[in-house]
Order: sequence, then structure tokens, then C-alpha cells
Amino acid sequence: LTEKLALHDKLTGLYNRHGMDRIVSELEETRGGGENSYGIVLIDIDHFKRFNDNYGHPAGDQLLVGLADVLLKTVRLQDRIVRFGGEEILILLSRTDISGTRQSAKKICRVVAKTKFDLKDGKEPKNVTVSIGYAAVSHDGGSFHDLIKLADKRLYEAKNNGRNMWVGP
Ligand code: GH3
Ligand code: MG
Ligand code: MG
Repeated sequence: LTEKLALHDKLTGLYNRHGMDRIVSELEETRGGGENSYGIVLIDIDHFKRFNDNYGHPAGDQLLVGLADVLLKTVRLQDRIVRFGGEEILILLSRTDISGTRQSAKKICRVVAKTKFDLKDGKEPKNVTVSIGYAAVSHDGGSFHDLIKLADKRLYEAKNNGRNMWVGP
């Protein structure tokens, strides 16, 4: 139980940064695996500050829980989901090349955009969108740190190009 608490985020139940470090060490050990190796998908909720301002911080928390739930149902069993920062989520895709990573980013973006999030406040369910940047060892090479930098740069591009989109090779 102590180990579970140490590796997971309290609000969403997703992996936290400690959990991420552990998974990344595993992934880095097997990255010799050639074409497949691993990919990452970095997700940021669009206009989340405005969401909090409009509906309140507890509703924002509830949205994060709902989003975690939707992501768990959308990704494959082998994919691991990390709460990377406040409203940023990172998916680690083992044995996945750039094309599989792109497919995952695209699916997540679409599924989130068409989901109505029930905030359990008796009010209308809400829609949100996410912006996504992705990268994969098979295309981008580099260390985990390099991949994160690239995915973050692509995420920034998605934000600048109008949000609710995935950007990557
Ligand atoms: P953008 O589309 O550019 O990403 O805009 P944004 O408003 O989502 O981005 P910004 O970085 O300005 O704001 C992020 C917001 O996320 C601000 C912060 O209050 C909120 N946030 C971060 N963590 C939590 C949390 O655990 N719960 C709630 N309710 N809000 C959070
Ligand atoms: Mg952010
Ligand atoms: Mg945001």
C-alpha cells in the first residue's frame, strides 16, 4: 500500500513523477528493441484556467478525475498514464513506434473532444478539449529527456495553432 501511495497521484490515481521515473527506467532498459522501443504522448487541457474560473476549482478537480478515467479506457493495457503536472498528462507507450504513437495521440484527442464529462454536481455535463504533442524513439531518437522536450515543443505548436489538435511527425 505504501508503495502504491508513493507512485500514484492522490487525486486521479494515475502514476505520479516517482512512478514515471520507475517506468522510464524499465523502458530505457529495453530501448535496444529496435523499431518499436517506446513513444510518449504529452497532453494538456485547453483553457483549464477558464474552466476553473467558470465552474469552480472542485469542478476542475472532478474533470481531472473524469479525464483520467476516459484516458484509461482509451489507451491500451500496456500503456502507462502519468499525471505529469497540474493539468498535464503523459502517456508512456511501450513497444510502440512513431506511427503507433501518432494513432494514440489522434484517438485521445478525438475521444476527449466528444466526451461529456459528468462533474457530479447536478449540472449539465461539460465538454473540454486537449492539445497534444508526441514523440517516439523510432523517429526522434535521443534520451527520455530529449523526447519530453520535443513533445513539449510540439504541444506548444498545437496550442499556437488553435488547440484541440495533435502535433508530431
Ligand atoms: P492553455 O489552453 O494554454 O493550456 O490554457 P490553460 O488555462 O489550460 O493553461 P494555464 O497554464 O494558464 O492554466 C492551467 C490551470 O490549471 C491553472 C491551474 O489552476 C489549473 N490546475 C492545475 N492543477 C489543477 C488541479 O489539480 N485542480 C484544478 N482544479 N485545477 C488545476
Ligand atoms: Mg499546462
Ligand atoms: Mg492547459
